[in-house]
Amino acid sequence: MAVTLTVLGIAQDGGVPHAGCECSNCMDAHDNPMLRRHPVACGIVGSDGSMHLIEASRALPDQMRLWADSLDRQGVARPDSVSLTHVHIGHIDGIGQFGKEVMGVSELPLFASRLVIAEMEKREMMMPFSTSEITTMQGFEPSKSCGFELVFVPVPHRDEFADTHAILIRGPDKSVLFLPDHDEWDGTLAMHGAETIREWLFSLEVDIALIDGSFWGPEELPGRDMSQIPHPTVSESLMRLGKRSEGDPEIHFTHLNHSNPLLKQGSEYDELVKMGWGVSWQGQHFSL
Ligand SMILES: [Zn+2]
Ligand SMILES: [Zn+2]
Repeated sequence: MAVTLTVLGIAQDGGVPHAGCECSNCMDAHDNPMLRRHPVACGIVGSDGSMHLIEASRALPDQMRLWADSLDRQGVARPDSVSLTHVHIGHIDGIGQFGKEVMGVSELPLFASRLVIAEMEKREMMMPFSTSEITTMQGFEPSKSCGFELVFVPVPHRDEFADTHAILIRGPDKSVLFLPDHDEWDGTLAMHGAETIREWLFSLEVDIALIDGSFWGPEELPGRDMSQIPHPTVSESLMRLGKRSEGDPEIHFTHLNHSNPLLKQGSEYDELVKMGWGVSWQGQHFSL
């Protein structure tokens, strides 16, 4: 059986529609359920059929149906492990659904950094899980004979409560980098001794990268101090990347804020696609 990855959500933590927002993206999503977007998450099916979830968003019930549907299966998916990149709300607010009040699982393997596990224990959210602390930059199989490895890659991201990682998924043929959140490129690249995004992705031997595309540009949130919610903008990432050329990895932007014009197919979307890059979508499927 092939190892596959399904994209289960592409929105920033607040999802689309976003609480308290009447912007056109949010109002359109209230009117048309097809335009709703779940917070980021990925599901990986191992070569033995085991199922591994990255991030537990509040859209968990819908995402488990979407995952099964993407595999042409009836019913819903049930994960055999959960991995978390960090403790910001959109990435963990579905975690409680594994507990007594909803699914009532026990001893479900959960992988995260020492600091993430400590913080989640402090919030008394780890009861349904058997937790394992990851070692950064060291590959491990989330279950025996699943046929792929996860590698947690540290990235700087206003780490108020705990640290943040990107997750590299190494399948038998292809590797995907899942990088939903980081503060800015200079810090991330410096942390890994790389000069450019390309150099960094090449050093990780990445074939497909799902990267932080929270905001299109710096003026996107009038009335909010964007230095308090740092993310590299997509326009900056495009400037650093230039056009895609042969041998470059595929890059798909994800973790889109409700305000991001890339949620619709307008001039920004066209510009990005013309440069050879993509915008990730729910149900997007990769064979690894
Ligand atoms: Zn986030
Ligand atoms: Zn909005």
